[in-house]
Amino acid sequence: MTEAVYDYTRQDATGATCTAHAWAKVPPPLTRPQREELKAKAAALLKAKNAVLVSHYYVEDDLQDLALETGGCVADSLEMARFGRDHASQTLVVAGVRFMGESAKILSPGKRVLMPDLDATCSLDLGCPPDDFARFCDAHPDRQVVVYANTSAAVKARADWMVTSSCALAIVQHLKDSGQKVLWAPDKHLGRYIQQQTGADMLLWNGACIVHDEFRATELELLKADHPGAMVLVHPESPEAVVKLADVVGSTSQMLKAVVDGAAKEYIVATDNQIMHRMRQLAPGKTLIEAPTAGNSATCKSCAHCPWMAMNGLQGVIDCLERGAGEIHVDPTIGRQAVRCIDRMLDFVAKNPSALAPRVQGMVKGIGAA
Ligand code: SF4
Repeated sequence: MTEAVYDYTRQDATGATCTAHAWAKVPPPLTRPQREELKAKAAALLKAKNAVLVSHYYVEDDLQDLALETGGCVADSLEMARFGRDHASQTLVVAGVRFMGESAKILSPGKRVLMPDLDATCSLDLGCPPDDFARFCDAHPDRQVVVYANTSAAVKARADWMVTSSCALAIVQHLKDSGQKVLWAPDKHLGRYIQQQTGADMLLWNGACIVHDEFRATELELLKADHPGAMVLVHPESPEAVVKLADVVGSTSQMLKAVVDGAAKEYIVATDNQIMHRMRQLAPGKTLIEAPTAGNSATCKSCAHCPWMAMNGLQGVIDCLERGAGEIHVDPTIGRQAVRCIDRMLDFVAKNPSALAPRVQGMVKGIGAA
């Protein structure tokens, strides 16, 4: 594993990369009438500008609902990329974090891609600076470079494959079966999980998600003891000890499917707590419990909600549509290099739909393939 470690409390020249800066820019809570008014205004603007809203599961309830009510989508990063590319609208509004907007622009360079707040970034993206990453790749030219979606366009431009948490396991398995060695970046927990599951020869970058890194096994064991019938769903960006306690390990979409299809009444969910909104809509009879990030062994930098995702709000959608604020630009040369690794992933998934099946540990019944 590389020794690179990023300090997320650090200020850069603009201050924009620091979590305190992100929390300070989170839109203030609104009253119900204020929310309804802003939502109606944003919906009218989307229609007037022939734009479509693509929201991630981790953004606030109103942005998820607005996307669905106006013909957009609420999805994980894989589906967001596909949806934006295939939609007829020439303007995409991406409610999520910057690498998602960049991926949309890379896949659709002729479209206008707007974001509610361009400062919304990701600790994995920040923790993998392109120049450092290029040196890492240069030192290991015999390896296939596989990068997670949560990286900058410049890092993707250097990669052979992009993966999301939905398909990473299947793609690395495919590379291993083809006799390839892998250089993996940036999430160390996801990389280690894939290494263990596939037995592939992988060199790992030392990055982490500040949300998933916070889940704690000791407290999760106590919670499980209080809810012995609960199914435990864990995102593989979480620490190894937490993943070991899971019944299902998977991406956000795979976790959502596990709740909808699962036979259990209770679910302990270890990912950003905003996913609960969509889970409640799709599985209204189920009880959802947040996995613990607090307790004796925790520091709770995020408390299970991403500060950068939280920066997205209705007013930001209105501002970007009214004033063109928050437009994503990607250097065309970098974009042309980066699109190859994304297209390779999308082709692989199209040819191997079983690649998106959730990973069920032990003998859990009632969860089908995706
Ligand atoms: S939840 Fe984690 S991986 Fe997702 S955007 Fe936030 S910091 Fe990045």
